[in-house]
Amino acid sequence: MKDYVLRHLEEIVGPQNVRTRDEDLFLYSYDASFPEHRPEAVVFPQTTEAVSRLMALATEERIPVVPRGAGTGLSGGSVPVQGGIVLCLTKMNRILGIDAGNLVAEVEPGVVNQRLQAATAPYGLFYPPDPASMKVCTLGGNVAEDAGGPKCFKYGVTKNYILGLEVVLPDGRVIETGGNVVKNTTGYDLTRLFVGSEGTLGVVTRITVRLMPLPQSKRTMLVLFDSLDAASRTVSAIIAAGIVPSALEMMDNLLIRCAEDFVRVGLPTDAAALLLIEVDGADAGLDAEVASIEKVCRQIGVREWKVATSAKEVDQLWLARRTVIGAAGRFRPTVVLQDVTVPRAALPAMVARIVEISNKYEIPIGVLAHAGDGNLHPLILFDERNPDELRREHEIEKEIFSAALELKGTLTGEHGVGLTKLEYLPWQLNPAAIEITRGIKRLFDPHNILNPGKIVAQ
Ligand SMILES: Cc1cc2nc3c(=O)[nH]c(=O)nc-3n(C[C@H](O)[C@H](O)[C@H](O)COP(=O)(O)OP(=O)(O)OC[C@H]3O[C@@H](n4cnc5c(N)ncnc54)[C@H](O)[C@@H]3O)c2cc1C
Repeated sequence: MKDYVLRHLEEIVGPQNVRTRDEDLFLYSYDASFPEHRPEAVVFPQTTEAVSRLMALATEERIPVVPRGAGTGLSGGSVPVQGGIVLCLTKMNRILGIDAGNLVAEVEPGVVNQRLQAATAPYGLFYPPDPASMKVCTLGGNVAEDAGGPKCFKYGVTKNYILGLEVVLPDGRVIETGGNVVKNTTGYDLTRLFVGSEGTLGVVTRITVRLMPLPQSKRTMLVLFDSLDAASRTVSAIIAAGIVPSALEMMDNLLIRCAEDFVRVGLPTDAAALLLIEVDGADAGLDAEVASIEKVCRQIGVREWKVATSAKEVDQLWLARRTVIGAAGRFRPTVVLQDVTVPRAALPAMVARIVEISNKYEIPIGVLAHAGDGNLHPLILFDERNPDELRREHEIEKEIFSAALELKGTLTGEHGVGLTKLEYLPWQLNPAAIEITRGIKRLFDPHNILNPGKIVAQ
């Protein structure tokens, strides 16, 4: 990067907020997915004005800028594949206000998801989207990826909770979309366009979120199965029975073993699969809901069914679920976490296909799913240093995507296209839809400087 550009960046954000040392460039060269690419500088703005000036400079100098939150993305979204500047928003991390009367909060993009949960709880409120990475991921990253999580089965994903945004466009102009009202049909829905745009259209600098009253009570169930197929058929049966749990998560035997080996909370490592089911709402209705779920489970055939009896047990079950991806990393050197969604009735078929694919390529694939949403996260466990395993892993991914699309599903449910699914976009979108997508990108970013090389090739 040219010297005068660096000096200008230092002038905009302060020298302490510009990093160019080798070790910093390395640290910001990857996210939680596979690809790596070093930036030329990492910059930490603290105000919208600084972001705006930086973007104007980047446009003038035609320097790529890659917005970044906590770097937990699973599709290479914050990897600076064309070099340039990583714009890390973690220092814009103030909760600007919680308006309990209007059930809204206003935050900067670097606020960590769980911090917002903690801040709203004393008001008897919560922000439903709860990615398993919620202890570290930022709301800016959640908005950019339209993140989901276990609770999204009942409550909906990030896009259902974003009322308004402040966004810095690639040329430095600042716009506001939406507002803090729950109904708003003024013009095109620009808020929805930015949600899920993976940092390719603008840099989100302020977010207005909708909050919900905390449910009065909840029940958490652990259901064990002797076959993975029975577990996935149970999910479809619960949905078909019109029951809407607040979470309906699935793990297969491989992942039960990985989780238990890590957290040691007493999960039975010989169970073929488990469902972690939670219902919430007014206390009076919950026991009936639990009974309905038990009935459906027993009709399919379960090995064991139980309701957690203490807060500690509930915490332990969720700890096992939320840490299982990291725990799988202890099992094989490389973990690729995939993300496809199928119509919910197709869950058993998709699970069967994943098992077949794993057997065919002789590579273990753990089946993890936000099962209630039909959103599967096959965890492919291999060794990237072995060229043959790497080749097979690539084939596995392709077969998983084809299977999901054959079942009328989608290439990604919540992790985005980013870099890792760029080549597969034409499998799902037809040429006209891809051209419209390109046109939207060109409209916002004619010089292709904001997170270039993501979602759709220009
Ligand atoms: C263990 C683990 C569990 C996970 N569980 C879930 C889950 O349950 N559900 C789920 O949906 N995801 C999950 N994820 C994926 C990831 O945590 C989410 O995609 C999250 O939203 C990323 O947030 P981040 O702050 O880490 O963003 P980053 O990874 O830093 O960035 C993600 C994308 O957002 C863009 N971006 C970041 N900030 C901004 C901004 N202010 N303005 C514009 N663009 C921006 C980046 O350019 C990039 O394209 C998981 C990841 C891990 C590692």
